[in-house]
Amino acid sequence: MQRESRKVSRRRFLKEATGAVGAASALTILKPRWVRGAEKEFGVVVLLGPPGAGKSEQSRRLTARHSIPIISTGDLLRDQVRRGTQLGLQADTYMKAGQLVPDSLMNPILEDRLSQPDCARGFILDGYPRTLAQAESLDALLKRKGLPPHIILLEVPTERLFKLLTGRRICPRCNRSYNIYFQPPQKENLCDADGTTLVQRPDDKEEVIRRRLDTYQKETQPAIEYYARQGRLVRVNGDQPPEKVAGEIESKLASQ
Ligand SMILES: [Zn+2]
Repeated sequence: MQRESRKVSRRRFLKEATGAVGAASALTILKPRWVRGAEKEFGVVVLLGPPGAGKSEQSRRLTARHSIPIISTGDLLRDQVRRGTQLGLQADTYMKAGQLVPDSLMNPILEDRLSQPDCARGFILDGYPRTLAQAESLDALLKRKGLPPHIILLEVPTERLFKLLTGRRICPRCNRSYNIYFQPPQKENLCDADGTTLVQRPDDKEEVIRRRLDTYQKETQPAIEYYARQGRLVRVNGDQPPEKVAGEIESKLASQ
C-alpha cells in the first residue's frame, strides 16, 4: 500500500467510489472525466500545510490559472452566520467560544457548497481538512461525488515558519508589511514609505504562533499521515519563491 503509486491510488479511489471492477473499467471512467471533452474537468485540489506556508497565495494562483473556485471553510461559516441560517446560528456559538465547529455542522455546509454549479469542474480546498476525522469524512463525500482529490502538502521547515510569522511587522498608516528577518525596513522598525513606527499584530505574537503551530502538529499531522500512508500525498517544497512553488504544484498536478 505504501509503495502504491499515486496514479494507482487515485484510480483505486475512483474505483471504490463508483463500484467499478477491474483496471480497464476504472480507466474508462477516468478518461472522460479527466482527459477528454470540451468541458474538461480540472479536479479537486486539497491544499495542506502549516500556518504561514503560503496556502492562500497558492490557492489564488491556482484559481486564476484554472478558473475553479477556492472553498475556504472559514468563509463558508461566516457566510452561513451572516445569512442567519440554522446551521450558521449553531456554528456561531462554537466560534464565539473559540472552539472548533464540529463536523456534524461543518459537513452539511461543505456538501451544500460543493454541490453548487461553479464547483462542477473542480475546486480548491484551502485549510481543510484540519483533522483526521475531517480527512475521512471528506473522502466519503468526494467518493459519493466520484471526485478523487489531489492532496498537496506545502512543506516549510518549522524554524523558518516561526520567523516568517513572528517577524511580521505592519505599518499602521499605509498597511505595508515587513519581516524583521527576511524583509526588514531600511531604518529599524520604521516604515520605508512614511516613517511610521511599525507594529506587530496580536495574532503574530510568539505565544500565539507557537500555539497555532502546536495545534497543527497535534490536529493536522495525523490527517497528513493518513494521506501519506495511502500513497496519496504530494509533497511540494514551500520554502522557495511563490512562483517557484506554483510551478512545482503545476508540474506535479500534470504528472498525476
Ligand atoms: Zn507606512
